[in-house]
Amino acid sequence: MANQEDIFKKVISHAKEYGYIFQSSEIYDGLSAVYDYAQNGAELKKNIREYWWRAMVQLNKNIVGIDAAILMHPTTWKASGHVDAFNDPLIDNKDSKKRYRADVLVEDYTAKIESKIEKEVKKAAKRFGDSFDKAQFLTTNQRVVEYQKKIDAILKRLGKSLENEDLADVKALIEELGIVCPVSGSTNWTDVKQFNLMFGTKLGASADSAMDLYLRPETAQGIFVNFLNVQKTGRMKIPFGIAQTGKAFRNEIVARQFIFRMREFEQMEMQFFVKPGSQKEWYEAWKENRMKWHLSLGLGEENYRFHDHEKLAHYADAATDIEFRFPFGFKELEGIHSRTDFDLSAHEKHSGKKLQYFDHEMNESYVPYVVETSIGLDRMFLAIFSHSLQEETLENNTTRTVLKLPAVLAPTKAAVLPLVKKDGLPEVAHQIVEDLKWDFNVVYDEKDAVGRRYRRQDAVGTPFCITVDHQSLEDQTVTLRHRDTMEQQRVAISEVKGIISKEVDMKSWLIKM
Ligand code: ATP
Repeated sequence: MANQEDIFKKVISHAKEYGYIFQSSEIYDGLSAVYDYAQNGAELKKNIREYWWRAMVQLNKNIVGIDAAILMHPTTWKASGHVDAFNDPLIDNKDSKKRYRADVLVEDYTAKIESKIEKEVKKAAKRFGDSFDKAQFLTTNQRVVEYQKKIDAILKRLGKSLENEDLADVKALIEELGIVCPVSGSTNWTDVKQFNLMFGTKLGASADSAMDLYLRPETAQGIFVNFLNVQKTGRMKIPFGIAQTGKAFRNEIVARQFIFRMREFEQMEMQFFVKPGSQKEWYEAWKENRMKWHLSLGLGEENYRFHDHEKLAHYADAATDIEFRFPFGFKELEGIHSRTDFDLSAHEKHSGKKLQYFDHEMNESYVPYVVETSIGLDRMFLAIFSHSLQEETLENNTTRTVLKLPAVLAPTKAAVLPLVKKDGLPEVAHQIVEDLKWDFNVVYDEKDAVGRRYRRQDAVGTPFCITVDHQSLEDQTVTLRHRDTMEQQRVAISEVKGIISKEVDMKSWLIKM
């Protein structure tokens, strides 16, 4: 089996070759950690966004969506804590001159211990066969228990040092663990420093009247500052939610993992406003709801896990990540945070305006508590894309590369292929495209032998191919080929739309939630 690094390289090159993702400004050698979505990528991204939006806004009567501006009054970021505390701890290696996030260096170290645990589990599973009890093994195998203890101790100390802003101890931890720079291999580290991740910009033309602004580092604040506007104009009753998708910008220190960590990215966030005291209940409910959303896409339950936070951000009283098994291991895909009344209270203080809800049942006003779900659209894209890219060995020992995207999200739902470029077959194929284009994205392809065209559509992720042959002229039937099974069925042209609809319709996927 190919190693993780090779698989990830394959994902990146496939994304480029099949028109999903290009490096930004590639002709100028690109811009680090900034990417452009190409013709197929833009469609896939739009479909993921819509899948999220429908699940959030359309299916929940008490959630509405907004679209706030990227630029906001600068006091917003003072109130939210981003000016003072939106920092990452950075460390440089003096030999390679490479810069790292100190916490990520430590987490990568513990991830290596974790993969040792996984190896032990695999070995034991093989040895014990059907009688293998994983949970028991994890708690009783001496070596595994020691590994886990070590991981817990390291993460606990890291969490504590970061919380206390004890950067000297973060450096001491890196030194004690003997963590080396992956480039130079040395332990010649600088001190750990804090680095603010917000991009600054200016509003206005003349230098003296210009106002310092930030590009928003998260979409959430656009929701908080509009809380009362939405509540009043929508006559919303607590509990209710406000959802939003949009760009966010972070001057990330280490930005290596393709679209996993970008400097310009898109978030899909939902802030759910609840009665103080009920936040734990809603936090649990949203954890469950969001996991169901993920599982409805069928990427496999074993590829997700929760990671509850030990170290809580300044605004949270509980937090968890939904982690996904990316080609480089389990990493955060979505965050679910119980944010208390931190944000609304802070905006009250800084703006001098009340941001309270009058509860008619209780006959009193209060600042609601907030439970938020926050997912990176680009990370979701990477999760789906990397999981879907598969290399299959076929019966005749040839291989095929197939992008098994969930059909509901695939950029193009069907390719219409005339078997040959003559005898009136292209005309029939074009007519099918004309009929289907009102309902789905479809393409027409007549170049090369039909087998090669099938492979091309497999690689780009099109769930259906519709082949028009001479028999089609006589009996109005076509061959419908399914991407995942490669099964071919003869169907009437009039039935094609119904068959495709059933498989790509959002309702039939979302209903599995
Ligand atoms: P990380 O620990 O990976 O830096 P975070 O905890 O800072 O992420 P949040 O602030 O909770 O992330 O943002 C919510 C979601 O936004 C994340 O779960 C992730 O999917 C996405 N996200 C955050 N930063 C980036 C980025 N630089 N590029 C792409 N997606 C991002």
